[in-house]
Amino acid sequence: MSVELLRKHGQFLSLSRQSPAHFDTPQAFTLDNGTLVEITAPGIISFTPGTPKGKDIVLSSGVHGNETAPIEICDELVQALLTQQLTACHRVLFLFGNLPAMDLGERFVEENMNRLFSGAHSSGPGLINQERVRAKALEQAVADFYRQGDSLGQSYRCHYDLHTAIRGSKNEKFAVYPFRHGQPWKTTQLQFLYACGVNTFLLSNSPTTTFSYYSSHQFGADAFTVELGKVAPFGQNEMGRFTQVRDTLWALVSQPALILPEYNPDDMLVYKINQIINRTQEDFRLNFPDDAPNFADFPKGYLLAEETGAQYFAEQEGEAIVFPNAKVAIGQRALLTVVPTRI
Ligand SMILES: [Zn+2]
Repeated sequence: MSVELLRKHGQFLSLSRQSPAHFDTPQAFTLDNGTLVEITAPGIISFTPGTPKGKDIVLSSGVHGNETAPIEICDELVQALLTQQLTACHRVLFLFGNLPAMDLGERFVEENMNRLFSGAHSSGPGLINQERVRAKALEQAVADFYRQGDSLGQSYRCHYDLHTAIRGSKNEKFAVYPFRHGQPWKTTQLQFLYACGVNTFLLSNSPTTTFSYYSSHQFGADAFTVELGKVAPFGQNEMGRFTQVRDTLWALVSQPALILPEYNPDDMLVYKINQIINRTQEDFRLNFPDDAPNFADFPKGYLLAEETGAQYFAEQEGEAIVFPNAKVAIGQRALLTVVPTRI
């Protein structure tokens, strides 16, 4: 692989997808601006400035292969850093999650990768498919990155795992705040995400096997699963809808400290989880239209879903649905319901 080619054109993602063998051997090189570039595997690249300013930032995208807008945003940012159009002042690690699924234009090849973190990749049947192997490698990349940061005296960790949702959302951009085991929710993080165009937050109430929970729980990172809109094929995203998140991420990486608008709780819609509904029977079905958006709400007593032996109702007035998917594997989560709260 020609380092010169990477420096000139910055096509790290397309090389990772088209010629992954280029990156089977880890490599490192330094840019003219003093930034150390480390590539440890296809789709895994980090930037360490000569004098890093304290933040260790992880930006992951493509954990679901067809969620293209965040992949394009991160690809552009990597290109800007490699070609020195932009200089990082903090350490930043980019993870392009599921490269084979990107090529297929699918969410995943064999298994939903965002259920495979915090060691789930190796439990049950073990490392039997590429998603499981990759989830383990992504965990390792995060662990190595933060431990290196530690040895450099870095003081702050964050991880934004960027997605787009299968369905539309009443609130187009929203973020899931992983369970914090009783530690306070941080309004500064809501402020940051609000600057990214996200005004809706879902507070998780239990450990999960998502990527963001892994970084939050294992490394104390400010971590979120961020849903930036609706899935569209590569090149077909209206990038104008992503200007705020793009600009804010560029600023996060390149500015010592971000200047954010003051926190105003009235700007934010914050929800907590009320019910987690798993599919347990073959005949599980949802009792609302396929195109009902995330955060659509229902009156108390409304039948939300049913299957042999069980009916699931809205328990509170205004209870809203998130991530409905009747086609998940038996035993997996088919629907979350949420109710408004404040932090
Ligand atoms: Zn996703």
